[in-house]
Amino acid sequence: MNRDDCLFCKILGGDIPADIVYEDDTAIAFRDINPKAPTHVLIIPRRHIATINDIEPADQALVGSLFSVARHIAAQEGFDDQGYRVVMNCNEAAGQTVFHIHLHLLAGRDFAWPPG
Ligand code: 5GP
Ligand code: ZN
Repeated sequence: MNRDDCLFCKILGGDIPADIVYEDDTAIAFRDINPKAPTHVLIIPRRHIATINDIEPADQALVGSLFSVARHIAAQEGFDDQGYRVVMNCNEAAGQTVFHIHLHLLAGRDFAWPPG
């Protein structure tokens, strides 16, 4: 899949609506359409990068900034002290279904691992 038929590039372009909770020059964040936790936000770079395997040295600051956005949203939604989970899947075996890198920010339930 390339950027022309990439779902998240279509959201970035405004062709597909999304519940956007944050945007800046390099990233946007929106609520997951099928949330796996009470709060489930996806944080994506504006630049189309298909998988973690496609991250180049020049992308390091960009990818790092996704964590700053996660921290910002977690604080905005009041989960910074309680805790939250940040996940990025790579390729099919990990469950990646949209091939434009994204951080999942999950909050509002207990993620303790291993489960008791
Ligand atoms: P992945 O499985 O690639 O790590 O995560 C893709 C995520 O995108 C899934 O959690 C899925 O629910 C979400 N998703 C798929 N299609 C849409 C959509 O059209 N809008 C939104 N907001 N999320 C979507
Ligand atoms: Zn894309």
